Amino acid sequence: MESSILTVAYLAAGVLFILSLGGLSRQDTARRGNLFGMIGMVIAIVATLFHPRVEAFGLTGGAVIVGALVGAALAARVAMTAMPELVAMLHSFVGLAAVLVGISTYLDPGKELHGAEHVVHQLEIWADVAIGAITFTGSVVAWAKLRGSVSGKPLLLPGRHLLNLAMVLGILGLAVPFTPLHAPDGLTFLLAMTAIASILGIHLVMAIGGADMPVVVSLLNSYSGWAAAAAGFMLENDLLIITGALVGSSGAILSYIMCEAMNRSIWNVVFGGFGAAPVAPSGEPQEQGEIQPIECDDLADCVADAESIVIVPGYGMAVARAQNAVHDFTRLCQEQGKTVRFAIHPVAGRLPGHMNVLLAEAGVSYEIVLEMDEINDDFPHTDVVLVIGANDIVNPGAETDASSPIYGMPVLKVWQAKKTIVLKRGMGSGYAGVENPLFFKENNHMYFGDARASMEALVTALRGSKAA
Ligand code: NDP
Repeated sequence: MESSILTVAYLAAGVLFILSLGGLSRQDTARRGNLFGMIGMVIAIVATLFHPRVEAFGLTGGAVIVGALVGAALAARVAMTAMPELVAMLHSFVGLAAVLVGISTYLDPGKELHGAEHVVHQLEIWADVAIGAITFTGSVVAWAKLRGSVSGKPLLLPGRHLLNLAMVLGILGLAVPFTPLHAPDGLTFLLAMTAIASILGIHLVMAIGGADMPVVVSLLNSYSGWAAAAAGFMLENDLLIITGALVGSSGAILSYIMCEAMNRSIWNVVFGGFGAAPVAPSGEPQEQGEIQPIECDDLADCVADAESIVIVPGYGMAVARAQNAVHDFTRLCQEQGKTVRFAIHPVAGRLPGHMNVLLAEAGVSYEIVLEMDEINDDFPHTDVVLVIGANDIVNPGAETDASSPIYGMPVLKVWQAKKTIVLKRGMGSGYAGVENPLFFKENNHMYFGDARASMEALVTALRGSKAA
């Protein structure tokens, strides 16, 4: 392909990626944003296949087809609740690709480089491999933590900050002897640095616990972008630089926003150690008073009497796939003239925007889906709050219990409503593994059961009482 056509194709893809990000920032334009992203990616892949330096056309094309088939099959099968793990795994692929491309570019640069050009190229390789290795191992640990294969509790080694510092200095220090060496003489330094960066990635994410994993997933997203941007400089590929910078900066902005929402310092999350307080083991609540279970018919009466209702969805709604039943409930209440709104906590579920996606999928109107800051002051004027499979995000202990790993995280103040109803299967704890005093409050009732079955039963009971 002519280099001018290639440049135009890359530019078009870059513009489409920017439009895609713009579209994804609002729910009503997200579909269009996704479409722009997909068209941009098709243009980028086709243009790259026709790049003059791509010689093994069959091999590359074959890898793309096999990769696309595996990706499509996995994406079609993945449950919404497993999306964060999939995202973490995909970040790890970006990191691994950066490491492999970096090492192979070092071994076969494609052209002879001397002087300053050589030094700059060596540093590009160094940055690409270092960020890639941290992203790869960090993402694998995040994946294991999210799926529960590795404990969510933070691993706090003594002197961990010094350990991190020593590893960062090791990564920087080894660049000195590596930079002047031509391939393959510097390979040992490059591989040694890869090992140190890989351990650093593991250590950084192992030290994160409690409720801070969302920020880590978003930080790793950012790292994967910077790894791609570094690869772009190394390969002199403008599109990779643009795309990497877009992913890197948007991930960094999202991490910052999430830290703000959780009242965390981004540096503390980066260097770990949050969520370190001892936690009550799941399923063994400390005695905090009596819980008050409620039956479906009584709840239907309570809803029938309410004028304003707020629904707080959480991870359990995703597990139960209760969003359609929740939508049916919403419509039914609206038909009866009630005000129904949704309160979305920034880290509800297991993925940024997790709840918004589920509610949009069920057809809930965007106008009644409000962010935490938009609705938190309205709870005192709300008759009934339905907490559907949420736990940590409505935990009053985040405001009152200084020993809690989620202490300081802003939460939805549902307990200020006239009545709260919590839908969950039992007394299990949430992701942060802490007890929730909300369940024992006088104005709270527990509606036990799988969230979907519970909501379907409630809708049936409400329809029955309406017909009667
Ligand atoms: P939580 O994890 O705090 O609580 C979910 C609750 O859902 C559990 O207590 C569980 O109780 C209940 N549940 C599970 N399955 C069902 C079911 N089938 N039917 C009804 N209830 C069910 O979720 P939240 O959304 O409140 O909070 C999110 C947590 O996840 C935060 O700590 C956040 O930091 C963390 N996190 C968020 C990420 C993000 O990006 N959003 C990423 C990673 C972590 P029971 O077993 O008794 O039913």
